[in-house]
Amino acid sequence: MTNKTKSVIGGEFLLNETELSKIFIMEDFNEDQRMMAESCNDFLEKEVIPMTEKLDSKENPELMPELLTKAGDLGLLGLSIAEEYGGMNMSFNTSMLIADIVGITGSFSTAYGAHTGIATLPVKYYGTTSQKDKYLKGLVSGKLKGAYCLTEPDSGSDANSGKSKATLSKDQKKYIINGQKMWISNGGFADLFIVFAKIDDDKNLTAFLVEKNLEGINMNPEEEKLGIKGSSTRQIFFNDVEIPCDNMLGKREEGFKIALNVLNIGRIKLGAGVLGGCRGVIDSSISYSKERVQFNVPIASFGAIKYKLSNMIVKTFSCESICYRAGDDIEQKIKEFQVDGKNLNESELSAIELFSVECAICKIYGSEILDFVVDEGLQIYGGMGYSEEAPMARPYRDARISRIYEGTNEINRMLIVGTLLKRSLKNDINLFKKAKKVINEEKIKKVVYSNENHFKSSYELVKKLKDCFLYIFGKAAMHFNDKIKSEQEVMMNISDVIISIYVLESTLKRCEKIYKKTQNTIMLDISKSSIYTNLSTIKHHSIESVISYMSREDANKSIEFINTCTEFENFNIKEINRNIANYFLEKKSYGLFNNFK
Ligand SMILES: Cc1cc2nc3c(=O)[nH]c(=O)nc-3n(C[C@H](O)[C@H](O)[C@H](O)COP(=O)(O)OP(=O)(O)OC[C@H]3O[C@@H](n4cnc5c(N)ncnc54)[C@H](O)[C@@H]3O)c2cc1C
Repeated sequence: MTNKTKSVIGGEFLLNETELSKIFIMEDFNEDQRMMAESCNDFLEKEVIPMTEKLDSKENPELMPELLTKAGDLGLLGLSIAEEYGGMNMSFNTSMLIADIVGITGSFSTAYGAHTGIATLPVKYYGTTSQKDKYLKGLVSGKLKGAYCLTEPDSGSDANSGKSKATLSKDQKKYIINGQKMWISNGGFADLFIVFAKIDDDKNLTAFLVEKNLEGINMNPEEEKLGIKGSSTRQIFFNDVEIPCDNMLGKREEGFKIALNVLNIGRIKLGAGVLGGCRGVIDSSISYSKERVQFNVPIASFGAIKYKLSNMIVKTFSCESICYRAGDDIEQKIKEFQVDGKNLNESELSAIELFSVECAICKIYGSEILDFVVDEGLQIYGGMGYSEEAPMARPYRDARISRIYEGTNEINRMLIVGTLLKRSLKNDINLFKKAKKVINEEKIKKVVYSNENHFKSSYELVKKLKDCFLYIFGKAAMHFNDKIKSEQEVMMNISDVIISIYVLESTLKRCEKIYKKTQNTIMLDISKSSIYTNLSTIKHHSIESVISYMSREDANKSIEFINTCTEFENFNIKEINRNIANYFLEKKSYGLFNNFK
């Protein structure tokens, strides 16, 4: 194993700079991982993508489960499952790469993600040996299809408030489940439901393995959705459904913990899962803008179009940078825990939990840039973008769900700040101490940009931006104390600052790593574009957070501090964006594994 000492704990990037050698970028994927990606891509191109319209039309409800079975035949349903259950036992970041590639398929990607993620992982992590023998093998081979039943009509974001009940039968051999679940992906064809319900008057949910054929399970017709129309989404009713006591998954009242742990994994995978879609839209937009002629020239020659292409590309590059950096951090942590004596399952769960902040960042950033990319892609197509004939309408509709499921982006933003506050109070991470130091600093200096030392001075800027975060975080924590949770606007501001810092630092590191190898100056342009965008986001949200509660005099002092932290070089952003767009227009593609030379 690589004995790299990684971040001790998620969120630590806010305090320290990580050495370049410890940052994983997607260019670091080895031959085996790339081959795996290629064979997955072949499968999608041959089997899934040609079926997109048929899937969306829902004329053949068997089609989606058939495709999942084919994915199972190729081993794609058990990437992160142990070999003894038929899986491939691949590394965490390899499974991220596959989620990335599958992402281009929209509806299939949702079905695949629900099956391999939220439906299979609870059995992997919390199943007994006999439960794994009975169900995990089938889920991995594709013989069984899975669904995860948490949401209810009156219990969405507040997932632990569900009303579904499980009551022990008189002979104490069975649980009788009653309840109604909503928005269940794969609901229409799943053979196994992971159902969350409360036993008697328990405070917390318990998870159960419920087979489809049991009496008392009914469902409404397929939901008519805005997008991902080819994915099955059902409302499911459980009326006196009797299941053996042995089908309790994990311990009594452990269900909410199971639900959350699995969602953390779902979140980071969703961040990666937007990437395939982003690349598809970017590549179509590049081709179309080169072909479409207006005013006697291809529209790609217009600055307005280059500006769009450049921003679509830089945001996608950034999303790749954060997802694979965080994915590898988790992977290294898993290895460290194993060396410390934990078994693989425990190591994975502990590592994921440690990086829950980064998982939420990847989910939020990924889902929001996907919406940005599909929207700009559609705009580049003009009127054609609005037609079902062009490859934009479907991605536009399919993208929107990502901000809603796996925890809405609002819930995830609260989670980021809430988790950091909790960890600071427990002294797991030293944010308060450092924040006090920054707040009490008499004089701060702005960072001076050096063209000769582009990356060095850019990291000095990032350090200042971290000071800016510590300042607004510390000020808000001191002002509101434990009441901060009811100041969601301020928490959202702080969250957006945190997200931008992670995005900027990860993008810079990837650019530097590639630049050192290739001397490709496009890396300087991408890094400058990222600095420009993230700097303005950080400044905007920092100022908004302090003026939301401070007196005018205090706010002015704070704004002075924020302005100094966020002052940097005025790059010619127009030329930078043109360079980036021209570079990829010439290459005719953004594509997977760019092979920057
Ligand atoms: C296509 C699709 C597939 C899905 N698949 C599954 C599945 O397979 N299994 C499953 O169990 N669920 C699934 N879901 C459900 C999904 O996870 C929920 O829709 C989501 O968690 C939000 O819950 P809700 O819809 O009840 O919205 P609500 O919780 O009612 O939220 C409404 C709005 O209020 C905001 N809000 C809520 N609480 C807070 C708060 N405390 N602070 C600030 N803002 C708040 C939300 O961010 C949102 O903007 C799916 C949903 C869809 C649409």
